[in-house]
Amino acid sequence: RPGVASALAGSGSRTALSLFSLPDRVALVTGGNRGIGLEMALVLAEAGAIVYCLDLPTAPDEEWLKLPAIENQQKKAKLEYISGDVTDQKAMWGIVEKIVEKEGRIDVCMANAGILHGAECLEYESADFKKVLDVNVSGVLFTAQAAGRQMERLGIQGSIILTASMSGTIVNPGGHWIAYNTSKSAVLQMARIRVNSISPGYIYTNMTRGFLDKEPGLQEKLSAQNPMGRFGRVTLWLASDASTFCTGAE
Ligand code: NDP
Repeated sequence: RPGVASALAGSGSRTALSLFSLPDRVALVTGGNRGIGLEMALVLAEAGAIVYCLDLPTAPDEEWLKLPAIENQQKKAKLEYISGDVTDQKAMWGIVEKIVEKEGRIDVCMANAGILHGAECLEYESADFKKVLDVNVSGVLFTAQAAGRQMERLGIQGSIILTASMSGTIVNPGGHWIAYNTSKSAVLQMARIRVNSISPGYIYTNMTRGFLDKEPGLQEKLSAQNPMGRFGRVTLWLASDASTFCTGAE
């Protein structure tokens, strides 16, 4: 019923389905080589977007190499791999500038790249602490800046989505993830002005595989702690026009 959908959207003519489609939209996903970032990128491309997956300048992950040929399945939608380091502010600004030069726009930015380092709280070393904050906090800011600058310049009302974590609001037992917890709290603070953050619970990716695989039954135990009784998946809603009245949400 288009009438209901357009009333919800506050626009005269859009159907609910069109709110979630992203034809001709251009997206950047950092940490898009694998894990949550890659899942997000695939969902955006399925919705019709041209998606740039940025990752450290290493060879594409095996998850990436196994991808179906999205470029052939959709009209304009495609996934492109670009290398970059989110902790390099000027480089990030330049990368997004180049995307805009090529595609003419940037609509969706998912500042998702992040790292996890666990160590005894009282022994946590300075270099490790700095590294986690550098990637998880500065990297998120530089990514959002890079996209936000172009969106402002071009007058595009885009979506900037930061990947925080439930670890930004809870503290993991033992303080092992002191830098990670601190960094994700900072990400939640940064999520303002048509910027939203997502706070995934546990997702089975390269980041979590290490400790999940080490302890038999741990994944089942953590799943049981979640009201849904399972690990999470990724959402398109915040990147779509259906969420344009939503800001600062976690
Ligand atoms: P992964 O480790 O699987 O993926 C993270 C990606 O970020 C990797 O591809 C990694 O590259 C990339 N990356 C790391 N540092 C940089 C950098 N400096 N510049 C560019 N790219 C970089 O992790 P997940 O997919 O699990 O996590 C994605 C996000 O989700 C993170 O922010 C994480 O904190 C958050 N999250 C994850 C949860 C989970 O349960 N998995 C739960 C809650 C939040 P490389 O492959 O080269 O290392």
